[in-house]
Amino acid sequence: MPELPEVETVKRGLEPVMLGARIEKVEARRPDIRFPLPERFARRLAGRRIVQMKRRAKHLLFELDSGETLIAHLGMSGSFRIESREASRPGNFVHARSKDPKHDHVVFFLDNGFVVTYNDPRRFGYMDLAANGALGDHPRLRGLGAEPLGPEFDAPFLAKLFAGARTPMKAAILDQKRIAGLGNIYVCEALWRAKLLPSRPASDLADLRSRPTRAAKALAPAIRAVLEEAIEAGGSTLRDHRQADGGLGYFQHSFAVYGREGLPCLRPGCRGTIRRAAQAGRSTFWCPVCQR
Ligand SMILES: [Zn+2]
Repeated sequence: MPELPEVETVKRGLEPVMLGARIEKVEARRPDIRFPLPERFARRLAGRRIVQMKRRAKHLLFELDSGETLIAHLGMSGSFRIESREASRPGNFVHARSKDPKHDHVVFFLDNGFVVTYNDPRRFGYMDLAANGALGDHPRLRGLGAEPLGPEFDAPFLAKLFAGARTPMKAAILDQKRIAGLGNIYVCEALWRAKLLPSRPASDLADLRSRPTRAAKALAPAIRAVLEEAIEAGGSTLRDHRQADGGLGYFQHSFAVYGREGLPCLRPGCRGTIRRAAQAGRSTFWCPVCQR
């Protein structure tokens, strides 16, 4: 399942082709993905120029010159594929995942000669259109918490957010209403980096006056760093695969703690062995020696 860094990487991969381009035609090959496509979907997109591309949590936002924004979510298996109408033009990257045309659900024909295809075998992704000014009220975006890469995301912010919260730290920072788009893998990685036990109460991030503790001062930059490093890794994957048959946005990233149950902790000088436990159907990985 794509997490925030992958979605950001997809956005950066699509930008050179889609930003500023005019959509000549859209083919919606079925009336729905996970949810029904909005009314007159293809017609509302045709002829529109993409004037801005953003990401909110794990949503891609394509702002159009019509005053509407196309909202796209990749779900579990969604991907975009970029092809050129002049077939062998260099500089294309083609997705390594499903290329089965029967899962090509939405196809965008751009005025610059590129064709961008949304493929989604499991169809947990979705697309919708909303007025630019009403994006915050959209049912999928409403109530989303802070962007972990946003400028306001720092230790004092974390402290205010979780002062008095009795939930374990891991569950607290996974809560999308508080912090948006942070998934299980990166939460495990950030807690390891900050040397914090996932089971510690989230209230440990704040003192009695809701000021940031040492834990908050370690965690805020750790969250930002694990995401930024993954985005950087994704960016280099994009570059590496641009000439070849590579992946747009899905990449094998090496993790410090996630998926390393039974293996030695990678922190220099730590002799711990990574443990795993299931919490609410998700695996938590941590080092019992250096995470406190
Ligand atoms: Zn350790």
